[in-house]
Amino acid sequence: MGSIAPQMAELDGSHFNITRSTTLRDVPLPGSPEELSHSYCTDHMVTVRWTVGNGWETPEVKPYQNLSIAPTASVLHYATECFEGMKVYRGYDGKLRLFRPDLNGQRLNNSSQRSSLPGFKYDELKKLVAKLMQIDGPRWLPKDRPGSFLYIRPTVIGNGPHLGVQVPKEALLFIIAVPWPDFTKTRKTGGLRLFASTPDTIRAWPGGFGYAKLGANYGPSLLAHGKAQALGFDQILWLFGDDRQVTEAGASNFFLIWRNKETQKLELVTAPLENQLILPGVTRRSVLELVNERLSKKAVGNLEPLEVVERTFTIGEIEQAAQEGRIVESFVSGTAYFITPVAMIRNNETDISTLPENGEPAGYAAQIKSWMEAIIYGKEAHDWGYVVENEEN
Ligand SMILES: *Cc1c(COP(=O)(O)O)cnc(C)c1O
Repeated sequence: MGSIAPQMAELDGSHFNITRSTTLRDVPLPGSPEELSHSYCTDHMVTVRWTVGNGWETPEVKPYQNLSIAPTASVLHYATECFEGMKVYRGYDGKLRLFRPDLNGQRLNNSSQRSSLPGFKYDELKKLVAKLMQIDGPRWLPKDRPGSFLYIRPTVIGNGPHLGVQVPKEALLFIIAVPWPDFTKTRKTGGLRLFASTPDTIRAWPGGFGYAKLGANYGPSLLAHGKAQALGFDQILWLFGDDRQVTEAGASNFFLIWRNKETQKLELVTAPLENQLILPGVTRRSVLELVNERLSKKAVGNLEPLEVVERTFTIGEIEQAAQEGRIVESFVSGTAYFITPVAMIRNNETDISTLPENGEPAGYAAQIKSWMEAIIYGKEAHDWGYVVENEEN
């Protein structure tokens, strides 16, 4: 017996309506002003419309273009918006790869529902990204430039024209691809300088939405970020609560390697996911899994084993560890900035060095980074790499 309820179409990344661009854009050179502008996109974009009555429509690939949106649109007034940050990498074997794209699909699905927007079958997202890259990959990530990447920004917005305060009846999922400077090659060495947030500025709170990748987490936090940058710092280190718990840094997760005072063992410590204060980073998870698998039981070269510890810890504990000479290394992780060492934290008036006493990081971040790069660029066969097949040449 058929149901009489209207059939809501699921998101389906296996069929597309394709309109090709007839005016291909120049591909910017690495380090060029276009690339540094963070606003110059590839030739095409993906869009998928959703309506409350019909569900997800057939995905479209079309020339990169501005969106047309009513001034009354939900996203412009009520911040019904969420996004993902992914990359597509040109491997040393000539193949294009995404890194664990189903984790981004799951997270975007969660974020979308948290921002009152529709959910979708998470494993379809990677097919939409792959389609865009089959078309734009060959020209924008040429095979003779292995080790390069594009930044991919899937986004969902409430684009319906209803100004009334209500759950959106229309939504748009779109995906754009942006040439992005390789900060691991251009950034000055020495490590990031972090500015600890003050109690009047809180990024996320219990029962809030800090665990979802919503634009609403960002806009209000850019004020503190801008002030910190004006003082010569790179990122805010977001603290929470009266005890000043360390959560994460800017758009990255934060890690510290220190020697446990009681056991004398080395620990890799990072904030936990359970209280939903931090974003569950794909890079964070990968760092923890790699360290658990490859570094928790045995030494690697002259790196002694590390125990992975996900727990709440405070800025006071970091300060004490620094005073007692127990800090070995610190770094942040995220897709945009990958794995980047941290040199110091300013908390109120106190500067805390997160480097060991000889000033040289022990080399854990560098080791983890090189393991990840081997997977991302296809030097090591690994099921975290998702190959984009059938590129159009
Ligand atoms: C995106 C993001 C991260 C990093 O997540 P990845 O999946 O590793 O890129 C960390 N913190 C915040 C607040 C973020 O928005």
